[in-house]
This record gives sequence, structure tokens and C-alpha cells, in this order.
Amino acid sequence: SKESGKSNYHIYTSSMNIQTYKTFSLESGLRNAIELNQFEFYYQPKVCSRTNQIVGVEALIRWNHPEWGLLSPDEFIPLAEEIGLIAEIGKWVKYQACSQNKAWQDAGLPAIPISINISPLRFLEKNLVKNIISVLEETKLDPEYLEIEITETSVLENEKVVLSTLDELKSIGVRISLDDFGTGYSSLSYLKLFKGRINALKIDRSFIKDLSEKDPDGSNFITKTIIELAQHLKMNVVAEGVENTEQLQILKHYNCETIQGYLFSKPVPADEFAVLLGKGKIE
Ligand code: C2E
Ligand code: CA
Ligand code: CA
Ligand code: CA
Repeated sequence: SKESGKSNYHIYTSSMNIQTYKTFSLESGLRNAIELNQFEFYYQPKVCSRTNQIVGVEALIRWNHPEWGLLSPDEFIPLAEEIGLIAEIGKWVKYQACSQNKAWQDAGLPAIPISINISPLRFLEKNLVKNIISVLEETKLDPEYLEIEITETSVLENEKVVLSTLDELKSIGVRISLDDFGTGYSSLSYLKLFKGRINALKIDRSFIKDLSEKDPDGSNFITKTIIELAQHLKMNVVAEGVENTEQLQILKHYNCETIQGYLFSKPVPADEFAVLLGKGKIE
């Protein structure tokens, strides 16, 4: 009816206004967020599928916004890229991850690699390796305890630059993993280039989510194939987004070595992660 059409229109415009206002507010706030100490990492363990031992951790950025609360990266990383603040955030990310990991080691907790996410275009940045070396020196973190997660998109941008960056990172001892594997515009032929350059493949959650005894859509088969492919290429394999024991059992059956997901732990603040790491294992 005309009546409900009118009210829908109303709701629509008022929510548009809120969205516009929010974008505006985030954009102006983002410029000062680092100075105001509003970024925080949440940490999610990577767990060995056989022993339940914590074998790594991924640092995931959050923005503690005074008005909008704890914001996830999807809400501000694209904006940061758009308005040219991503390099500065990237600096914070590298420094914070290395110094936190060093602090845990100095506190006597088990030494494990910490992963950070680098957005595709940042990976092509000229000073990336230099910046990483200087952060490692500054924080005194051994390079083998830093891991960079990149997506295939980076490689499509400029194959030559990416391969030489991967080689430089390898030569300084930093680990690399290929995130969201199986999505994107991946071409399997890239894997040949990655052999010996990438330490791990992370199977995207979209495949893990649909794992089930029955396998109606082929997710099991695809997952099994990715795991075998990784093993042939001498890469470790990590399943992301594992939420239940059925998925875990299937992944174990396929010999997937490393598990990440809500089943073991959601991403948690630093102090909570230190408690998990202190126990060493997740039961
Ligand atoms: P990602 O690297 O693929 O990270 C995995 C995302 O899945 C995280 O979302 C994590 O919280 C979520 N997750 C983990 N386990 C489960 C699960 O069992 N079930 C479900 N439903 N979700 C799970 P988050 O933290 O919101 O991060 C989203 C994306 O933002 C990340 O995707 C990454 O691409 C990006 N990101 C995070 N931190 C940074 C950063 O410091 N710099 C950059 N450039 N990007 C970042
Ligand atoms: Ca990641
Ligand atoms: Ca991922
Ligand atoms: Ca993702």
C-alpha cells in the first residue's frame, strides 16, 4: 500500500543517514586513532590437530571506537586504504605484533610464530622488507617468529615484485602463508612459483563451513585435494574457521596439520591469549 511504501522510504532514508554519518565519523576518527591508542589486536591460536598444542597465533586488528564500540577490520581497513592511512596502520601492526610476541617470550611463554595480515597492495610497497627488518631489530624478535599472511591478489598485481619480495623475506627468515586459499582469482599455476617460497596454505572458511559426512557440494573433496596439494608442495596447511567437531574429525582424517577457528578459540585480547599460551594446549 501507499502507507507502507511511505514508511519504508522513511526507514530507508534514515538508515542511509546513519550510514553516511558513520562513514564520515569513522573517516575523521581514523586519522587520529593511532595517536589516541585506539587500535588493539585480538589473538587467535593456531592449533595442532594431533596434539591440541598451540603452534602459532594470528593477530587480528580491532578499532576501539569511543562512539561505535569495537570495530572489526572489515569496517575500517578498506576505508584506511581509500584515504591513504593504511601504511601507518601497517607500521603499527608490524611493531605491535613483534613487540607483543617478544614480550610473551621474555615472560617465559612458549615461543610461537605470530602472523600479521598485509593487504595486497601493501605487499608491493617498496620498503616492505626494509621496514620489517627494522621492526625486527627494534623489537629484538627472532625473524622465525614472525609470519606474514598474504592473499593471492597480491601476486596478480605484479608477479616479479612479489616473487622477489618473497625471496627476500625468506632469506631473512620470516615465514609466509597464503591466506584465503581457494578463493580469489587463483590460478593453480601460481603454486609452482610459490613452491619453496611459501610456508603454509590457509584453506578458506568457505570450504570448511560446508564440510560434512555427506559432502553434498564437494567441499570435502576440494578440501582433501588442497591438503594433498599442499603436502606435495611441502607446505604446511591450516584450516580456517573450524567451528565444530564434525569439521575437525573430517580435517584430521585428511591429515590437516593445523586448525584455526572458534572451536578452539575466538580471537581474544592479549592477556587472555597469554593464559592460553601458558597452558600450551587447548582441551
Ligand atoms: P582473515 O585474515 O581471513 O581472518 C580470519 C577472520 O575469520 C577473522 O575475522 C576471524 O576473527 C574470523 N574467524 C576466525 N575463526 C572463525 C570461525 O571459526 N568462524 C567464523 N565465522 N569466523 C572466524 P576478523 O578478525 O574480523 O578479520 C577480518 C579480515 O580483516 C581478516 O580476514 C583480514 O583479511 C583482515 N585483517 C585483520 N587484521 C588485519 C590487519 O592487521 N591488517 C590488515 N591489512 N588486514 C587485517
Ligand atoms: Ca589472515
Ligand atoms: Ca583467511
Ligand atoms: Ca578473509
